[in-house]
Amino acid sequence: MRTFILLGAPGSGKGTQSDHLVKAFGFTHISTGDIIRDNIAQKNPPGILCQQYLEQGKLVPDDIIIKMVENHLQKVTGDLIWDGFPRTIAQAEKLDQLLHNLNSKVDHTLYFKIDETKLVARIMGRLTCSTCGRTYHKTAVPPKVAGVCDDDKTPLVQRKDDNKEKIKIRLAGYHTDTVPLIEYYLHQQVLTIIDADMEGSAVWDQIMAVLK
Ligand code: ADP
Repeated sequence: MRTFILLGAPGSGKGTQSDHLVKAFGFTHISTGDIIRDNIAQKNPPGILCQQYLEQGKLVPDDIIIKMVENHLQKVTGDLIWDGFPRTIAQAEKLDQLLHNLNSKVDHTLYFKIDETKLVARIMGRLTCSTCGRTYHKTAVPPKVAGVCDDDKTPLVQRKDDNKEKIKIRLAGYHTDTVPLIEYYLHQQVLTIIDADMEGSAVWDQIMAVLK
């Protein structure tokens, strides 16, 4: 089992590149955002706990998200792409411990570095498939047929937390809680900076250069 982490601000393109990695190499994609939204849709106890945080644009507390990740990890196999986890130092330490117990480790972290002044516009144009979670962008990554997912033809929706006010809160949280992970993985010598300002195919080329 190999483990790759995609680290970066909301809207930096982690989800889009994860979709490509799954299609190209059959990686197992672990998106904590998707896991949380699934639980919310099922209205189960962890979902009910998470809902208020998501709606406010805040991170779900570490103990809740870590429990969800531990459960999820028992159900998956293969090489893993982590998208949206870890987002705090406590989560990163826990992930190291969980992987250690599986005789594994973080093989590489790809840090999607982006000009944050562009993020609001990027996120406001984002469309998500409510069935499979695949993400599109109205102009930059449009679906083949407007408004429906290429894969399962489900209507695309805009996420409730993808509005200006919530994006600002999420970006502030990213700076406080997640940016310290850059140093954490640099220190472990497993971090590569990806220029995420480039268009999708150029971002993909950079990822391929790291994974080969
Ligand atoms: P984005 O990358 O745009 O923030 P995600 O789908 O990754 O979108 O996450 C959506 C929301 O889910 C976050 O704003 C946060 O509330 C919650 N979330 C996802 N991953 C985590 C995590 N690792 N720790 C805490 N909260 C999380």
